[in-house]
Amino acid sequence: MSDLTGMSVAAMQAGLRSGAFSAAELVGAHVAAAEAARPLNLFITETFEAAMEAARAADQALAAGTAGPLAGIPIGIKDLFATRGVRTTAASRILDGFTPTYESHVTARLQAAGAISLGKLNLDEFAMGSSNETSAFGPVVSPIRAAGSDAALVPGGSSGGSSAAVAARVVAAATGTDTGGSIRQPAAFCGIAGIKPTYGRCSRWGIIAFASSLDQAGVLARSVTDCALLLEAMAGFDPRDSTSLDAPVPAWSAALTGDLRGRRVGIPREYRVDGMDAGLDRLWQQGAEWLRDAGAEIVEVSLPHTAQALPTYYIVAPAEASSNLARYDGVRYGLRVVPDGGSLADMYEATRAAGFGPEVRRRIMIGTYVLSAGYYDAYYLKAQKVRALIARDFAEAFARCDLLLTPTAPTGAFPLGARNADPIAMYLNDVFTVPSSLAGLPAMSVPAGTDSAGLPLGLQLIGRPLDEAGVLDAARAIEQRAPAPATPEPWWR
Ligand code: GLN
Repeated sequence: MSDLTGMSVAAMQAGLRSGAFSAAELVGAHVAAAEAARPLNLFITETFEAAMEAARAADQALAAGTAGPLAGIPIGIKDLFATRGVRTTAASRILDGFTPTYESHVTARLQAAGAISLGKLNLDEFAMGSSNETSAFGPVVSPIRAAGSDAALVPGGSSGGSSAAVAARVVAAATGTDTGGSIRQPAAFCGIAGIKPTYGRCSRWGIIAFASSLDQAGVLARSVTDCALLLEAMAGFDPRDSTSLDAPVPAWSAALTGDLRGRRVGIPREYRVDGMDAGLDRLWQQGAEWLRDAGAEIVEVSLPHTAQALPTYYIVAPAEASSNLARYDGVRYGLRVVPDGGSLADMYEATRAAGFGPEVRRRIMIGTYVLSAGYYDAYYLKAQKVRALIARDFAEAFARCDLLLTPTAPTGAFPLGARNADPIAMYLNDVFTVPSSLAGLPAMSVPAGTDSAGLPLGLQLIGRPLDEAGVLDAARAIEQRAPAPATPEPWWR
């Protein structure tokens, strides 16, 4: 691994501008790292040649003084973002052969800022999962291993290709999407930072829909500042997304201080759940100490409907998914399976049976069931009401504090295959991340320490709507005090 691949985005920006290295050298080093990391199965589609061409163009723009803020920065794109002329799969067979003729708003903004994509990163099929094992293109293997073990671990999910690629120094940062934790949990598992902004900050236009009222784009990167730098480029109003927020995008990176004087941080008592790693509980208290040291006042708060968040999410998200995924019918794009002499309905059935994997089918079945005439009131409508109570809990807590501190996930990364047999055990991963998603709040995971096996653990900061600045500052305060996460040994080379 060359020195160029371990740097922060900020250091890359400085090096490119001082002429310490060129964009072609920087991107070339990352392409070499990506080629060496193929055993991790990070990319579904590689665009290394286009990246090298873009790097040469970035060098010209840098020389001419016309370069954007992220010119020459090597990134990866979760393969849920539509990219013009580049195959887009959502890690599903149902999109076989789909090459969009348009570019998602978020990736268009990153391109306009000069960022250079190395390709489309692996994920759980349609972003449904917590371990990147539901991908039709095979699981991602985490670059991280437990101390003294060579067992393969999951990178988290659904943005598992993103978290693993950033942790393995294959890209400087990556886009992710988070519906119930898919940026924060994989960031925690891989010892990196990840932010999901307020619902509506980043346009969903051109992002393949999972659960539209929850889906939100964000960033995975190796530092809080790098997350801020990328998010500044990605966020912003887009009239093509009716839920896009028409709010100014602050210069988050420039305003970062890590100074929390005058801020109150709440510790929600309901987040102390059974089955939580004992070390994680200590780390959570340590995190509160770090924030106190940064000037914050720590208060205990209550979020009474926390236990209802997971069942609520696993009604609302599948309901919306079953509706969103109705469009994959073999007619308009992607896979088409026509049984011999079959009718139109036979084609729909055969296409969907062949195209969707087991987890996606499970979600479609649950979603269709909870929306069906006889069960709508008992499940979907009830879940919508409980969702409102969960949002109210947060609003009441934020009357007493400015930010919340919680763990990101109940445990560190688990071995590949360990939780596949039991969907409920898999869903329990999301217990700390789902409530803020249901409430649409900005939330971030920051590396805070390790478990007894030496695996990374993250702490989560949750803020008021549009207070990404507060979330980033508190995460920065933890980052300044926590031990720096170890760079993974490149055992895959
Ligand atoms: N793990 C959760 C799920 O499977 C969250 C996924 C996500 O945020 N995209 O639905």
